[in-house]
Amino acid sequence: MKHYSIAIDGPAGAGKSTIAKMVARHLNFIYVDTGAMYRALALYFLRNNISVADKEAIENACNYADVMIDYKDGEQQVILNGENVNSLIRTEEVGNMASASSVYPVVRLKLVELQRSMAKKADVVMDGREIGTFVLPEADLKIYLTASSKERARRRFIELKERGISADINEIEKDIIERDMRDMNREFAPLKQADDAILVDSSHMTVDEVKNTIIKYFEEIIQNSSKELG
Ligand code: C5P
Repeated sequence: MKHYSIAIDGPAGAGKSTIAKMVARHLNFIYVDTGAMYRALALYFLRNNISVADKEAIENACNYADVMIDYKDGEQQVILNGENVNSLIRTEEVGNMASASSVYPVVRLKLVELQRSMAKKADVVMDGREIGTFVLPEADLKIYLTASSKERARRRFIELKERGISADINEIEKDIIERDMRDMNREFAPLKQADDAILVDSSHMTVDEVKNTIIKYFEEIIQNSSKELG
């Protein structure tokens, strides 16, 4: 049976997960948050005091860290060696470790296998950095979702403020630019727009506008493929 896949890639803070979740809910697809998988492995490295500079230790640790995905009330749950770590992976510390450790091919290949197997079994909206270029090159629809670094920093600042966390917006922007650089310049499967991806710049769009734009593109693809068949 054919399963559909929508790949949403883009830099940190572009709103990928919010949008991917909304699109998945609308289409009744499964939302796959690949960043959460990198964060779970990062948590394992942090807990075991593994330095991100120690390539051998990272490679070795990958043999002992088992990452699995489950769904509870439609929400993705990341299971690390049998423990649900969803509530532990959203910190800046884990995010920074995920960003730094995801440059290693051994880390990426371990998770890519899991991601591809999920897309084989269900209709998915998958977000990440290289879903359209590397994980699912045959995805039915590829979106490259971005926004200016200023706007991404502003959104992150508001989100933190709502959670009662004070932060310096210039520091947030600096951090975002640093992550972009690392994601775009790593040797293995860097962040870049796939040749056949549609660029959506959300700097001046509401979340609903972005969601509706993506759904419209997907509906066009379905219509065209049914025309080809009929
Ligand atoms: O998207 P999120 O911020 O949760 O991802 C955490 C980190 O994991 C990112 O900064 C990025 O470096 C890395 N990542 C990746 N490839 C993906 C998803 C995330 O390299 N497909």
